[in-house]
Amino acid sequence: MPSVIVIGAGFGGIGMAVELQRNGFREVTILERAADLGGVWRENTYPGAACDVPSPLYSFSREPKPKWRQRYSGRDDILAYARGVAERHGLLESIVFGADVTAAEFDETSGQWTVTTADGVARTADVLVSAVGQLSRPAMPDIPGIDSFEGASFHSALWDHEVKLAGKRVACIGTGASAIQYIPEIQPDVAELTLFQRTAAWVLPKFDTDYKPVHQRVLLHVPGLPAAERFSWWAIAEFVALGLVEFPGIVRGVSRMAQNHLEEQVTDPELLAKLTPDYPIGCKRGLFSNDYYPALTQPNVHVETTAISDIVPDGVRTADRVVHEADVIIYGTGFKGTEFLWPMRIRGRGGRDLSDVWAEGAHAFLGITVPEFPNLFLVYGPNTNLGVGSIIYMLESQARYIRQAVQLLAENPGHTLEVKADNEYAYNSALQHRLARTPWNFCTSWYRTASGRITNNWPGTTRSYRRRTATLHRYDYALTPLPR
Ligand code: NAP
Repeated sequence: MPSVIVIGAGFGGIGMAVELQRNGFREVTILERAADLGGVWRENTYPGAACDVPSPLYSFSREPKPKWRQRYSGRDDILAYARGVAERHGLLESIVFGADVTAAEFDETSGQWTVTTADGVARTADVLVSAVGQLSRPAMPDIPGIDSFEGASFHSALWDHEVKLAGKRVACIGTGASAIQYIPEIQPDVAELTLFQRTAAWVLPKFDTDYKPVHQRVLLHVPGLPAAERFSWWAIAEFVALGLVEFPGIVRGVSRMAQNHLEEQVTDPELLAKLTPDYPIGCKRGLFSNDYYPALTQPNVHVETTAISDIVPDGVRTADRVVHEADVIIYGTGFKGTEFLWPMRIRGRGGRDLSDVWAEGAHAFLGITVPEFPNLFLVYGPNTNLGVGSIIYMLESQARYIRQAVQLLAENPGHTLEVKADNEYAYNSALQHRLARTPWNFCTSWYRTASGRITNNWPGTTRSYRRRTATLHRYDYALTPLPR
């Protein structure tokens, strides 16, 4: 049986390990850099952290939870769910916490990967699966003077709960999915909130609801109902995803809904103009909130759209030379999404460095395998992120595909498995051709590299990805015997 090392104990790593164990592969070790599992749901502790994908869909298909408290669960409930899945499958013994992987090297003679952690420990396995996610490395902006600020400052994903915001002047930089969740939470407490908006966000209403005990009982006792609920949310997301690539009319309908939402909640013409996006919806990730716009209309909030020129000791200076004084700066400036496995050093056949192979932007066959990196598999790799829908559905597709690869290796001992370079090339050429038609080209976002290549998103529905990954075709791969 091949031994497997999985890097990361977030939803991707947990789903992968469960899939392997279910199919009899028991030699699985998960290396997790932190002291707990949960990935982004462990890391992000900012006020109001929640998932804007309904929980019946943002959960594993074979691990339904009939007793969600809310349709859009908060971070604590999602983390508890992830922990529950790991515990039910006895994964906790397989996780090495505090194991921060710095490097992994493929040995052509043994056909094994040697994985090194920051504490200097080296472990070997036949198969290496990276499940480090796309949003695990917070990005601080490159703003001059950033270190000169004399107040407190932190990134949204590294929220400093020691810093009390009540009665303070708070500068918030960024208007992404994280910011729109914490701004309504902190606004009532702070003295002044200045929101530095570089680009207005498209915001849709959130059809949230609490699941009352009666709902939970019905979901628990009516056979098929949880699956039907999950299916309904999935179908809605698939419909919108179709709009992003195939049928722009669908997206136009969604943007009308967002525009109405804005106009219903913001009546001041000046604020309305500031908050109206000037790029097509879907280009950046669509956001969902009922309380973001109302928070921005409060008298202690000022939305600043003049570009930031620098950070000064007492606040944020804009291009018009105005200094916006602040006691605290919160950077809701996102993540290094296009850097994928960085800063781990991954060396494949002939010592090839993955960061060299990906110098022009990350790419992989089905987002999972890379030529010259035998027995290496990626969960949530390049071009597998979604503009809409549940990433857990994609993670499951990948886990099933990778499990088939491990099965193939088990059936062919003494061999390594590597995607054929021309297959990967043809796959990515077609993918880039399709990506050229998507709205993601019309603005900057974490979906694209500085040169404009879209390295993160899947241009299609989750069903089309599931179909592509349902069967691992032998002809896409080279099974190479180890040297004698
Ligand atoms: P983000 O979407 O990348 O947003 C970063 C924000 O910071 C943008 O508004 C960006 O402006 C701004 N920014 C960056 N550098 C700046 C600078 N130098 N000056 C001024 N503004 C700057 O990051 P995020 O909000 O953390 O969300 C990242 C991803 O995490 C989301 O897209 C989503 O996939 C995930 N997430 C999901 C949920 C959920 O509910 N499922 C919740 C939170 C996060 P520009 O737009 O102009 O670049």
